[in-house]
Amino acid sequence: MGSAETFSDVSPIDGVELAAVPRGGAAEVDAAVRAASDAADAWGRTAPKERAEVLHRLADGVLERVPDLAAVETRDNGSLLRSMRDSVMPRVARNFRFFADRLMELQGSADADYEGFAERVRWDPSGVTAVITPWNAPLMLATWRVAPALAAGNAVVLKPPEWAPLTASILADVARDAGLPDGVLNVVQGIGEEAGAALTAHPGVDRIAFTGSIETGRLVAAAAAPNLTPTSLELGGKSPFLIFADADLEAAVAQAVNQFDNAGQVCLAGTRLLVESSMADRFVETFAEAAAAIVQGDPRDDATDIGPQITREHFERVDGFVRRAVVDGARVVFGGGPNEELGGLYFRPTLFADAPADAEILHREVFGPVLTIQTFEDEDEAVALANSTDYGLAAVLYTGDPARAERVSDRLVAGTVWVNCFFVRDLNAPFGGAKGSGIGREGGVWSFDFYADVKNVCIAPWT
Ligand code: NAD
Repeated sequence: MGSAETFSDVSPIDGVELAAVPRGGAAEVDAAVRAASDAADAWGRTAPKERAEVLHRLADGVLERVPDLAAVETRDNGSLLRSMRDSVMPRVARNFRFFADRLMELQGSADADYEGFAERVRWDPSGVTAVITPWNAPLMLATWRVAPALAAGNAVVLKPPEWAPLTASILADVARDAGLPDGVLNVVQGIGEEAGAALTAHPGVDRIAFTGSIETGRLVAAAAAPNLTPTSLELGGKSPFLIFADADLEAAVAQAVNQFDNAGQVCLAGTRLLVESSMADRFVETFAEAAAAIVQGDPRDDATDIGPQITREHFERVDGFVRRAVVDGARVVFGGGPNEELGGLYFRPTLFADAPADAEILHREVFGPVLTIQTFEDEDEAVALANSTDYGLAAVLYTGDPARAERVSDRLVAGTVWVNCFFVRDLNAPFGGAKGSGIGREGGVWSFDFYADVKNVCIAPWT
């Protein structure tokens, strides 16, 4: 079903209009939910082995189209072409492969005997899953939810982000070519407040998987409440990056500079550098040298390290944070504003020091290439600073002492703690946010626990 109205999709690289995209509203959402509902029963009854085969063919289709998908995503959201091509799009395929294989291990894995009674745990399909995603890694984040939902035997309605909508439509083509039955994956393009709001409030939806900001997460939870629709929320972050004096300085600095990746538009980014005071000067010096070597420019060029912000509106938002940080008394160590040489939507990698404890820049997610540095004297202070925001998505910890790594990570409030590493993503591991960073965990069996209707069949002994 088409939509008469459209919205304009513009590239952040040069402002060129890429597409007039159908602007779905309540009617298109309703049609998609009905189509999904009609298809859900047969797909849910399809044997797991057959569902897994379709998902593997979907993965094959993604791999065949990596160059196209990478080029389109980069043009659409300004992420680096080299990472789209070499890691992100192959990971999209991996999302399908992983959940296809994991599906095959489910049956029987939680069965138990209880006082002579046999307990047989079943992961029944739950019906229609709504998936709503943000623009910073559109296809990767969409498939991280779509793949387990399909594996669990659900039909899906996907509402892609209006600032980077294009690869979702290609995914629908890949799914059709892979033999996914009609109606099992539906893509409704549209604006969040229109299509997104209609989808989350729809009584025909059985699961909502939402990735985006805390503010929108609240609206989604409110829309889901009247229908009691189970909702998985993966929201924003303001993650701490702790560096102790016993850490490998070179490795810690390289990883800290890496937090500018994707021009800072990464939910997991460790944007608050917390450094033990005895090595803070050395750290800042080494960090500034490494950050000065960052190449900013056209994300299609393999020599580029960071590209533009996604839209003018978002660029202004980032700039607003930086201006207010200065007013609040934070000191710019380097960067500190738009990249005048490049113009457009390029914002310089920026590091702030000396922000007062209550400054906004230390507490709210910027979602741009802006980091802060604070110092601490001991573990207690490090942990207190790390846990001092309303977020709890991730934490990064650099230390040379294994016992300290255990002690500190035990006390950090976060869905994921990375020790001497960052962004290691095992799809079998639980993933999600503590505090304001979300509700629920996905990955491995946690994903099936959410998308499926888990049922315990308790059987008395046969006489
Ligand atoms: P956003 O909340 O503005 O939008 C996310 C999606 O929600 C979009 O598709 C949008 O169209 C839709 N939407 C907007 N209003 C809606 C409404 N009223 N009802 C239903 N849907 C609506 O977020 P964004 O700016 O696209 O993305 C950036 C945010 O996403 C950041 O906060 C970032 O940290 C977060 N994020 C989190 C994760 C994670 O895994 N936890 C991953 C990536 C991004």
